[in-house]
Parts: sequence; C-alpha cells; structure tokens
Amino acid sequence: MRNRMIAGNWKMNKTYVEGVELAQGLADQLADGTGDVDVVVCPPTVDLKGVSEVIEQSEAPFALGAQNVYFEESGAFTGETAPNMLEAVGATYCIIGHSERRGYFGETDEDINKKAKVLMAHGIVPISCCGEPLEVREAGTHVDFVVNQIKADTEGLEISDPSKYVVAYEPIWAIGTGKTATADDAQEVCGAIRKTLSEVFGQQTADGIRVLYGGSAKPENVAGFLEKEDVDGALVGGASLKADSFSAMVKAA
Ligand code: 13P
Repeated sequence: MRNRMIAGNWKMNKTYVEGVELAQGLADQLADGTGDVDVVVCPPTVDLKGVSEVIEQSEAPFALGAQNVYFEESGAFTGETAPNMLEAVGATYCIIGHSERRGYFGETDEDINKKAKVLMAHGIVPISCCGEPLEVREAGTHVDFVVNQIKADTEGLEISDPSKYVVAYEPIWAIGTGKTATADDAQEVCGAIRKTLSEVFGQQTADGIRVLYGGSAKPENVAGFLEKEDVDGALVGGASLKADSFSAMVKAA
C-alpha cells in the first residue's frame, strides 16, 4: 500500500560539479529501475539545477528534493529560497525541520508547519523531520517528545493524497554519530508517529503516509529497519554521498 522510499540528504556537501557527478553516478547505477522504491536525492540549493538536468536526461527514476525552503512566496528575505523557485528547477520534494535546522538555525515547529503548507500549495512533497535529543531519550520521554512535534508540525494541514506527505524520524543522537537506533527503537517511535497521524488525519490517510528512519542508516543495516511494520524507508546522510552505497541501499529496499 505504501511504496518504500530511500531519500538522500547530501547536507552541505558537494560543489555543483561534484553534485552533477554524484547524480550521474547514481543515474548509471539505477538505470535498470528501482522497482517499487521511490528514490529522492536532496542536494544543496546551488546544485539543484545541475542535478535536475541529470535526472531529466537519465532513464533512472529518481526524484529531486531540496533541503529547505522559506514560507513566503517572494520578497525581501535575503538568502532564502521560495517554493516556486524550487518548483521551477524541478524539485518535487523538500526536507523540512531537519534537526540541524532546528538546532543551528532556530527553526520552530511553527516555521515547519508553515513550510509544509506552502510546499503543499506548490505541489512539493514535504519530508518533515522529527526526533529527540539524547537527554530526552535517556529520560525515556522520547515518544511523547516526538508525538508533540508531529502534532505541532501537522496542525491545520490538509492531506488529500497521503503519498504527498512524508515524515522522517531521526533521533538526533544517531545522526552522523555511527550510533544507530535499533530497528525496535525505530519501530517504537515510527508506530507512535503513525498512531498520531491517524488521530490527526484518520486511519486511512495515516496508513498511506510514509514514515522514514534516519540516523547512520547504511547498506548493511537498512533492511533490518525496513522489516518493521511502520518503517517505510530511510533518510540517509553520509551514505548518500557515494553512488555505490546509496544505490546499494535502494537495492536492499
Ligand atoms: P547520517 O545518515 O549521516 O547519520 O545523517 C542522517 C540524517 O541526518 C539524514 O537527514
């Protein structure tokens, strides 16, 4: 019922030329198709156009995502990117609320909620991130913490097609640390996320929304996460920076 999804978040890595090379490498590796797996790459903003051209010219079915957006349509917001600008370069997905944006750039749930709304108005699929810091995990209140994020991030959203809204659970202590959550840890929170989505949007919609796991996901561990009922894919950082490892994850899915 839900297609699996493997999404690569390149973060602040790869110049324009390097980004085009990585995308070309992926296009070569995925030229035989990706089965039912939806594959998304999210390069830095200045690489979007180049990667978009690679995707357009390739046989490989992967999609383009941005890493951030601003929630106004245009105007005096120096350094920001409007949703129609993403649309114009062919981005069909956009990560919002990544813990690095929340932590280093002060993004709030209210910002994330506005970003989701503006993206959806432009037909761009949000990949909305949530996840707890280590102190919260150690205090054992991680499920409540994430449920509260989900409620705030989805407030007033209208989802007519559940394949057009994606959630990524990324426990902060597992990001870039080599420390992965266990598949059971991921299922505990992803299951709670789906339950919350069913309370907000109804069961049928919740059953169609992809919930991804992120945090030191790699070719060797991705299959274990995907065995879990409520884990529908992965949002991949470090392992998405090499065509070999990222395409191995797509194949493992
Ligand atoms: P790593 O896969 O490098 O841990 O990063 C995860 C992440 O933050 C993806 O958005």
